[in-house]
Amino acid sequence: MISVTEALEKLFLIAKVTPVETVELKKCLGRVLAKPLESTRSNPPFPSSAMDGYAIDKANLKSGAEFKVIGESAAGHSYPKKINKNEAVRIFTGSRVPDGANLVLMQEDVEADKKFIIVKENFDKKSNIRLEGTDFSKGYKVKTPLILGAKEISLLAAMNFAHLSVRKKPTVAIISTGDELVFPGESPKADQIIASNAYGIAALCKECGAEPRILPIAQDNLKSIEYIIGLAQDADLIITIGGASVGKYDLINEATNNFGVDKSFHKVAMRPGKPLMAGKINETALVGLPGNPVSALVCGYVFIQPLIQAMLGLEKKSAPRLMAPCSTSLPKNGPREHYMRAVLLPNGYLEPVENQDSARLALLCDSDALLIRAAHAEAIPAKTQCEYIKI
Ligand code: AMP
Ligand code: MG
Repeated sequence: MISVTEALEKLFLIAKVTPVETVELKKCLGRVLAKPLESTRSNPPFPSSAMDGYAIDKANLKSGAEFKVIGESAAGHSYPKKINKNEAVRIFTGSRVPDGANLVLMQEDVEADKKFIIVKENFDKKSNIRLEGTDFSKGYKVKTPLILGAKEISLLAAMNFAHLSVRKKPTVAIISTGDELVFPGESPKADQIIASNAYGIAALCKECGAEPRILPIAQDNLKSIEYIIGLAQDADLIITIGGASVGKYDLINEATNNFGVDKSFHKVAMRPGKPLMAGKINETALVGLPGNPVSALVCGYVFIQPLIQAMLGLEKKSAPRLMAPCSTSLPKNGPREHYMRAVLLPNGYLEPVENQDSARLALLCDSDALLIRAAHAEAIPAKTQCEYIKI
């Protein structure tokens, strides 16, 4: 059995980065920018007013000074000429500051009629001008890889990019195995259950930028499993669920051997998730998840999401680990790294849920975190700082 860290390193070795495709900016949310960009424009592209007020030359500016209003500069409708001393142009936020002006008096700081303004006492002396390129200048570099959220898309839109080169979403074929399984919405017989993992794992893949495809359920025989795996060959990643342990009907190991899977590892020193398996069929990565719903999802957070991020060209790193004090004492841990379902309390403490059974999906759903106990960790008193992954 290998450690979680070793297993993740081996997974990164089979992670093939997806090719680049061009996508319309408005469809880029959540995608990963693959080619660095350089802005071809500055923002703002001209000196622009940060206030509603009057653009002036500040040479003769003092309280009581009088300026003649000679025109207007509105957003999209600049004042075309240069202004002279003792002249003012009515100006609005975002409008181009006319040549000759070097300060915008706030409208609250002047007495105004249609033709003249008079500066009040204690007026604001700030320039209230955003110089050309104060936000970003021509040549500003956008580095990759970059996950495109709302703020990144705003910036690239401001640079006038309408299409972006992004990583293709890794396609993930998800295969449930088991005679006892039916999909949600079907009518299970008395001894059947719902293949919930396929949906959970698909959601988890989608969450981190992949394109999941739920395949038909494979029955617990080699022929059926091999047939369904055969349907998945064009995917970037195949995930099987269940049948990974050592029971009579746990046939994933044998089926993948028959398929010529080049195994990276089978069994990881973790709890839950021990029967995890990984390898490669030609260029396609394959991960065999355990069937128990909590085990499958924990492996999803710990292995599948980092693997997909690596396939998207992002940094090869484990799920971010945070720190919080544990509300209770915990006993010495055994030889496997333990991912304990825990609630993050309003006071910042982590409270492990009362039962850590790997089939208790409802308790997983009540949890906010996986509190991590290292293999062989010593017993700890309450309030000890612990590492956790947010889920
Ligand atoms: P297995 O590894 O196939 O022995 O499965 C372990 C447990 O997980 C069994 O109770 C299965 O019924 C259950 N299980 C397997 N696959 C799924 C799935 N896709 N969704 C929900 N439960 C599953
Ligand atoms: Mg099974």
